[in-house]
Amino acid sequence: MSLLSKGSYGFCKKCQVEHSLAESERSRELALELIRSLDENQRIDFSSRTLDPAFSTSYLFGKARGQMFGVLVCEDSQGNEVVLKAFSCQYNSRWELESWAPPLLDLEVYNKIVPEADVQIKALSRKIDVLDKQSSKRLALLEERKRISQKLMKDIIDIYELHNFCGEVSSLPEALCDERGIPTGMGDCCAPKLLNWAAKRHLKPLALSEFFYGKENKSGSRQHKEFYSSCEEKCRPILGFMLCGIAVNE
Ligand SMILES: [Zn+2]
Ligand SMILES: [Zn+2]
Repeated sequence: MSLLSKGSYGFCKKCQVEHSLAESERSRELALELIRSLDENQRIDFSSRTLDPAFSTSYLFGKARGQMFGVLVCEDSQGNEVVLKAFSCQYNSRWELESWAPPLLDLEVYNKIVPEADVQIKALSRKIDVLDKQSSKRLALLEERKRISQKLMKDIIDIYELHNFCGEVSSLPEALCDERGIPTGMGDCCAPKLLNWAAKRHLKPLALSEFFYGKENKSGSRQHKEFYSSCEEKCRPILGFMLCGIAVNE
């Protein structure tokens, strides 16, 4: 078994310090239990009453490859242990599954703006495909398609809402600790989903474990059943804000 990871950490602009949440023996043990459940059930909706083929783990061993899973150990106001779990991003195009952490974005708005933009983009692509490569009409349509997809990306960023343990709520751009810009999928990893859910439910996080499950990623940097710290690119710039107010490991 690999050593405990450093967990989640990030620089907080307000406090001017790094906030962190480490992995513990307990969170590792619960994560290994989740791995056993995934192995045995071969699906991620094992605690749901109705079974949906979209949630089979065979999805993680196909073209889509594996993804990250996370377990957050928390304590409620009475001191009882509460364990939250999450899958990163979407699972087979699904954002929601009972008993798993929900996304940080407003799903109702997302489900409206994404299909609308998709229809426009597909219609433009069909026109672009039949036009002569050098025609000015084609170049104009390419520009328009680019404009629509950039606008969609911006609109998606606007529908994220981040909660922390000081009771603060922030947008993605406001939560960033630096000027690096916002990569696609920021806020969709397990750590932000779990911390956001815990903050909204007034739970106190104690430890976090994140592991990869499924076919290794293309670069080979993520391996089946290996444990990792929260990612540098998408998580660290917002974790300072999200971890603010947890007051553990500081
Ligand atoms: Zn991440
Ligand atoms: Zn802070």
